[in-house]
Amino acid sequence: MSDQHEGHYEAVIGLEVHVQLNTLTKLFAGDSAAFGSAPNTHVSAITLGHPGTLPRMNKEAIVHAIKMGLVCQSEIARYNYFARKNYFYPDLPKGYQISQHTTPICAGGIVRISTSSGVRDIKLTRIHLEEDAGKSMHDQSPELTYLDYNRAGVPLIEIVSEPDMHTAEEAAAYLTKIRQLVRWIGICDGNMEEGSLRCDANISVRPVGEKKLGTRVEVKNLNSIKHLRHAVELEIARLSALSDKGERIVQETRSYDAEREVTFSIRTKEDAEDYRYFPEPDLAPFQFSEEFIQQIKNQLPELPDAKQSRYTEAYSLSEYDAIQLTEDYELNELFEGLAAGTAHRKSLVNFLIGPIRSYLNSQNKPWSSLKISKSQWYGLLDLVAGGQISFSVAAQKLLPELLSNTEIDPVQLATSLNLLQDAGETEIEQWVNEVIMAMPDKVEAYRKGKKGLIGLFVGEVKRISKGKADPKRSTELLNKVLNEKQ
Ligand code: ADP
Ligand code: MG
Repeated sequence: MSDQHEGHYEAVIGLEVHVQLNTLTKLFAGDSAAFGSAPNTHVSAITLGHPGTLPRMNKEAIVHAIKMGLVCQSEIARYNYFARKNYFYPDLPKGYQISQHTTPICAGGIVRISTSSGVRDIKLTRIHLEEDAGKSMHDQSPELTYLDYNRAGVPLIEIVSEPDMHTAEEAAAYLTKIRQLVRWIGICDGNMEEGSLRCDANISVRPVGEKKLGTRVEVKNLNSIKHLRHAVELEIARLSALSDKGERIVQETRSYDAEREVTFSIRTKEDAEDYRYFPEPDLAPFQFSEEFIQQIKNQLPELPDAKQSRYTEAYSLSEYDAIQLTEDYELNELFEGLAAGTAHRKSLVNFLIGPIRSYLNSQNKPWSSLKISKSQWYGLLDLVAGGQISFSVAAQKLLPELLSNTEIDPVQLATSLNLLQDAGETEIEQWVNEVIMAMPDKVEAYRKGKKGLIGLFVGEVKRISKGKADPKRSTELLNKVLNEKQ
């Protein structure tokens, strides 16, 4: 890593993130935009760019793009037009890509990230709409490149950040946040393996204190957050070492090889490639009214950051719990649905992000597959809150049954399994006395100040009571007896 350069250089990172919008159809054609179909089955004459065909704009894609802009507090352009970006590439059947040039649909804005150094707002340059290209496949034949045009014309937004990040951790947190947001507002599945979310990282280094940006390299097509983080780390180290040796850095495009743990140059890059942008003549410019934008604003759900503040303030949950609860939209819906009807929210969170999440992960099941009914949930939470059963026994013995049977009543189940900590006061007192008599050395040590021994006594009471003593009650009684004047 770059330890020997630490202190000399500051890294500067800007990310370009492509988000494939999950519309039913393509940006300018009625072909399905779905992923994973047989090659070249969503390829109308428009997608293939046949002469005489005309693009027609997909309103849903525009709504998706505006949603993202609103979420990032960008300025939404009221007047827009598409532009032709001309270049030749086999996966681009028209010989140009319809994109936006001087009028991105969203300008400016921020993405709020949180890292080990705290919370920061990363500035955005723009978010623009464009169509995706097709896919070249080089692994189907030893000599030939195969082409699949299903993806050609699928709507994308490209989110371009300012050169505003300085560590691999920030870059990873930024992409994580974008993935969370696009899923949250339902515009993209955020699946990086399938290419729904793709990232290019631009990295440069400069001496600490220098204001001018250094020459950047761009690492293309990072397809996981882990790869992004690693590629940025590698580039910071490599560029710092080059700068140490006084070597000139050339602006270039690089690729990341996860197996060999290196980045390598694929081409040098001049500043502005000549794409000969001009306004797309087959599509009229378009304008949004205030009402249209307001309507879209009204459709947006409460965002993760706002929910987190609500959970820590109104529900007194920890920041950690609040973050966990907003990681996944379905988990959050489940929590919200239950939290409104119980005061035992902390215990609910413990079940959800503890045993339930482990269970779903191990079964590879989504949150929506959970069948536990509301009354079962509330029964379970009341048992734990009332001290009739411990959290861990409930998680180990009751949950597995509740997960498979929506009819079972938790109280009946706990009774029939003989799990209730239902010993009365006198019984607990007897066990407490028994434990104290059996451990005179420990009792003396406790009375001399080793207060941590209380856990041992409580554990003993639990053991000899065969789980029938509520640990809260036995702790209280133990404390009382042990702290009595001799
Ligand atoms: P291009 O498509 O040519 O890569 P864009 O303007 O779309 O250009 O994206 C450039 C990206 O590179 C932005 O995210 C920007 O913040 C980032 N960037 C520009 N200059 C630097 C630099 N010197 N160091 C790091 N990142 C940079
Ligand atoms: Mg770029």
